[in-house]
Amino acid sequence: MSHVFPRHCHATLPTAVAGDGCYLIDTQGKRYFDASGGAAVSCLGHSDETIKNAIKDQVDQLAFAHTGFFTSEPAEALADLLIANAPEGIDRVYFVSGGSEAVEAAIKLARQYFLEVGQTERRHLIARRQSYHGNTLGALAAGGNAWRRAQFDPLLIGVSHIAPCYEYAEREEGESLADYGQRAADELEAEILRLGPETVMGFIAEPVVGATLGAVPAVEGYFARIREICDRYGVLLILDEVMCGMGRTGHLFACEGEGVRPDIVTIAKGLGAGYQPVGAMLCSGAIYDAIAKGTGFFQHGHTYIGHPVATAAGLAVVRQMLERDLPARVRALAPLMERALRDRLGQHEHLGDIRGRGLFWGVELVADRGTKAPFDPSRKLAGRIKTEAMARGLICYPMPGTRDGRNGDHVLLAPPFIMEDDEAALIADRLGDAI
Ligand code: PMP
Repeated sequence: MSHVFPRHCHATLPTAVAGDGCYLIDTQGKRYFDASGGAAVSCLGHSDETIKNAIKDQVDQLAFAHTGFFTSEPAEALADLLIANAPEGIDRVYFVSGGSEAVEAAIKLARQYFLEVGQTERRHLIARRQSYHGNTLGALAAGGNAWRRAQFDPLLIGVSHIAPCYEYAEREEGESLADYGQRAADELEAEILRLGPETVMGFIAEPVVGATLGAVPAVEGYFARIREICDRYGVLLILDEVMCGMGRTGHLFACEGEGVRPDIVTIAKGLGAGYQPVGAMLCSGAIYDAIAKGTGFFQHGHTYIGHPVATAAGLAVVRQMLERDLPARVRALAPLMERALRDRLGQHEHLGDIRGRGLFWGVELVADRGTKAPFDPSRKLAGRIKTEAMARGLICYPMPGTRDGRNGDHVLLAPPFIMEDDEAALIADRLGDAI
């Protein structure tokens, strides 16, 4: 019997005992190619000596010093490196232990900022349907899947949800891509006006949607219009890059590839690359200064923020990313992934869509290729593909179709950046066999 609190019934899962490059290995010695990177976490694979040594060295030198009393060298160095490579205008970093914490901190920072500048009614957040921002109560409130939130109602903050920018599922017949992008973004303006601009603190979105829709980039022009609308009404733009950030889309910060500048940006998964739990919330100097000049400190904190070992791992990861120019490697691998997926699955009678950026790809499966009607959810297709893929030595991240019946089951692919060129075909073949 497993005493681990059950998630997907732990007792039936294989036990992972080792990692080797892109592979995880179980107690039977079976090797699994990690094409999901644990959901966009393991960007450097599972046995990077540089990261492991950085962690060991840091534990030897200093394991913990509470941030109420000390700062630490790795936390300072990681903050400097992130800011040196961050989007324009972003120049402060707040470290946390994971994605939900980063989003939680972002929401509270936005709220406190408006209190500091005397706009006390700005407490409403706008997010998008079909989005995931984490599982703590604030982050859960931001998430766009009503079924996830329902059982925990009432949630702690007011959030309303507009449509995601997903042209394949939401574009009207005959509508141009450009018109569609503007129409989708204009939903934000309509919602701000409906609520009253003086009550809205922020809009949160992923530059490339991950966990709910499977690697969906927005239409060109969408985020430029979103930025314009946020500026017009003084609403903070929070970009959640917990999944799509840290090189995953071919840019250290995904928003740079998408051409949009955030006021607040969250990162996590790829920052620790699986070696340590670490995330960060980064913000503009203007936000930081308002708080510094006001009450003087951000009313937030966790015991493990800025942990020396976690930030030492993050520092080693970002250094590797930059020294080896891994975002460029991701950009080079992107067309190979796309070609391999299209060659193997492009003609499949149940293919709904293949889309993505960098090493962040989604494969959608539908019952009817013509109408794009999804499979009946009771068939649990995504979960079955995961099981079949694991039997074939492939880890891919399954996501059931959205409950509004608009989107089919998905498989998310987010392999390590250290994969070889020909491993794109290995992923596509094993996935194709599983499907
Ligand atoms: N934001 C996004 C965009 C995510 O994909 C996730 C995790 N899937 C989170 C936040 C929450 O991160 P964590 O699971 O580390 O709390």
